[in-house]
Amino acid sequence: MNRIGKLYFRYGTMGSAKTAMLLTTAYNFEERGLSYLCFKPVVDTREKRNVIHSRIGIERECRWIYHDTDLFGEVRAIFEETLSVPEWILIDEAQFLSEQQVDQLARVVDDYGINVVCYGLRTDFRTRLFEGSRRLFEIADSIDEVKSTCTCGRKTIVNARIDGQGQIITEGAQVEIGGNDRYMSVCRKCWSNKRVEQRRRDTLPFSPEEV
Ligand SMILES: [Zn+2]
Repeated sequence: MNRIGKLYFRYGTMGSAKTAMLLTTAYNFEERGLSYLCFKPVVDTREKRNVIHSRIGIERECRWIYHDTDLFGEVRAIFEETLSVPEWILIDEAQFLSEQQVDQLARVVDDYGINVVCYGLRTDFRTRLFEGSRRLFEIADSIDEVKSTCTCGRKTIVNARIDGQGQIITEGAQVEIGGNDRYMSVCRKCWSNKRVEQRRRDTLPFSPEEV
């Protein structure tokens, strides 16, 4: 293969329209007659339809990536079967890839000259890097931040996990499935201020309503 591909990582917080960006890219490829495939790691096994969809209402079919999926093997199988490979591969929720799977994608880029674009989160709700994101920061050819704005006007940095009472949670499993927790992307300052405020309230002898 003489084509030269690149491994891209486009990261941002939740709600920064990364998935919409992926779907817009897919649409543009279709307009220009470029071949592509979409992949997405399976996180919630209750998910039945293999599609990537965004809040703006568009969707595209994707192939699932399981914990033991060999992504290089998948592409090689496509090549052996059809004697061709797609020009582009788009990956949603790339933070959930394993380190090995990111390495397999790098090999897909280098051996087949395919451009691989990974969209994902930088960090989890504890502000720690996800495994897939860490590996992408280490070896991607091109890294871009997809920015979004906190309610205070600063850039969002943290994907805060919020419980049923609206409190920020900083402990627990990295991925919570089927729970009542929600996420909110906020800037670092709002994240820190809100936690200080929560701690202060927790140490009051009575809640403000009772006083
Ligand atoms: Zn803020």
